[in-house]
Amino acid sequence: MRDLGTPVLDDHLHLDPRHARGIDAVTDFARSGGTHLLVVNKPSWHLGVEADTGEDFRAVFEETLDVVADASEELRGRAWPVLGVHPGLVSRLVDERGFDADEAAELMCAGLDVAAEHAADGEAVALKSGRPHYDVSESVWDASNRVLRHALERAAETGVALQLHTEATEDLTDVAAWAEDAGLPPERVVKHYASGECAGVTPSVMCEKGYLEDAVASDGPFLMETDYVDDPERPGAVMGPKTVPRRVNWLLENGHEAAVERAHVETPEAVYGIDTAGTLE
Ligand SMILES: [Zn+2]
Repeated sequence: MRDLGTPVLDDHLHLDPRHARGIDAVTDFARSGGTHLLVVNKPSWHLGVEADTGEDFRAVFEETLDVVADASEELRGRAWPVLGVHPGLVSRLVDERGFDADEAAELMCAGLDVAAEHAADGEAVALKSGRPHYDVSESVWDASNRVLRHALERAAETGVALQLHTEATEDLTDVAAWAEDAGLPPERVVKHYASGECAGVTPSVMCEKGYLEDAVASDGPFLMETDYVDDPERPGAVMGPKTVPRRVNWLLENGHEAAVERAHVETPEAVYGIDTAGTLE
């Protein structure tokens, strides 16, 4: 078990013990020096759930809560869940299941309401929402933004952060303004799969060295992630679970102790209210 002398948080990954590596991936992470995880539920349809009501998301969230408990057993720190509705669901509903954009938005908001129950209980530290990263019709885009704004409201009400899946961009000041309207501090909105910087919200930076160099140089808050998908059919699609610890080691070797503290202690505390240093054995 490697000890890098600091908390090491992967801000966004998925675990699928039923179909893929599950806890073995956590063991890889921990052996490489990883200590804390934010585990995001997989898209509902990847788990065979074709939701018709908000209640149908409950099983998806329960599965994530279970794997988070198991993951925490393997870590010197702990794991926390991030629960929500993947924005790509809108296309599945509209293109393949005959929903119109408004009906799709209604179902996705209902799923977020169930996720928000877990946030209100203190189980989830963030909700997950966003909008498609690919071109969609205007009605689907508008519906997706309505869902995103609903998620901002639920996060504000329940006192948690919001992770966003969005188009590739370094400017989400539009969303930051909506967060203010909803009563959620924009720094508690996280752009998942970010390059080094993102105006308006907090970037969760993919562990490409160039992106990390930009984030370190920015002096702003940032997080680090792999978006490991734990999908046996897409083994090379993403970074593996050892990547965040390896990149932390690389940053430390290059004298970036303060940036490591920023990404793994200060920003997690400011965004999610989690204490990575205090929860480390
Ligand atoms: Zn993801």
